[in-house]
Amino acid sequence: MTSLQDHPTLTRKERKDLKILALFTSVYCSAHHAAVREPLSSLPPNLAKLQRYRYCTECRDFLQYAIDRRLKCPLTDKPSCKHCHVHCYHPGHREKVRQVMRFSGQALIRRGRLDLLWHYLF
Ligand SMILES: [Zn+2]
Repeated sequence: MTSLQDHPTLTRKERKDLKILALFTSVYCSAHHAAVREPLSSLPPNLAKLQRYRYCTECRDFLQYAIDRRLKCPLTDKPSCKHCHVHCYHPGHREKVRQVMRFSGQALIRRGRLDLLWHYLF
């Protein structure tokens, strides 16, 4: 696996997207997965703060994949991933993104955290 430190160039929007996904995945993971949870091991420097979240192995792989794809995306001026012609997400990944965003979005609404709502992934 390529070291993420070799690709530290994420735009502000990409960092924001990934931070939201990391937050939402941690909400989802703590509600669904009882396994021992650990922080992400390989983060680019400008996403180092994400180490505060803990995930099970499955969710760690999922999130690491999402970060990795974003770091390697060939499009400089990215359309919303929904309209992207590259389709970098492998089968199953997008479904989990949807599942995670839907569940955690509703959980945050119930807790009155509308400020954390997303409007750019889907
Ligand atoms: Zn999990």
